[in-house]
Amino acid sequence: MLTRYDKILAAALSLLCILSVGLFFTGENQSKVIVTVDNKQVAALPLNRDGEKVITTPYGTNTVTVKDGKCTVTHTDCKNLICQKTAAISRYGESIVCAPHHLVAEVR
Ligand SMILES: [Zn+2]
Repeated sequence: MLTRYDKILAAALSLLCILSVGLFFTGENQSKVIVTVDNKQVAALPLNRDGEKVITTPYGTNTVTVKDGKCTVTHTDCKNLICQKTAAISRYGESIVCAPHHLVAEVR
């Protein structure tokens, strides 16, 4: 038979369980795009918030935009425009590289 103490323990455990599931899902939503230049972090953009950041590097300028949970380079003054043509990134580990500007935007 369950004692009063057991019931409290059970309630506490299920609450803890719900909390950790909640944390797990929030963690999923907290993906960020980390922008680095020469391996140094210059910006961090949360994917769950629309925004735009102009990144000025010693080699040129890139505009990194987050919209609808996806990140793209919307403007650049680099020569090859590969970063601007790269498809939007949204999943962990995906990245956009602008080699002429030594810039990498990666989802972490
Ligand atoms: Zn580029």
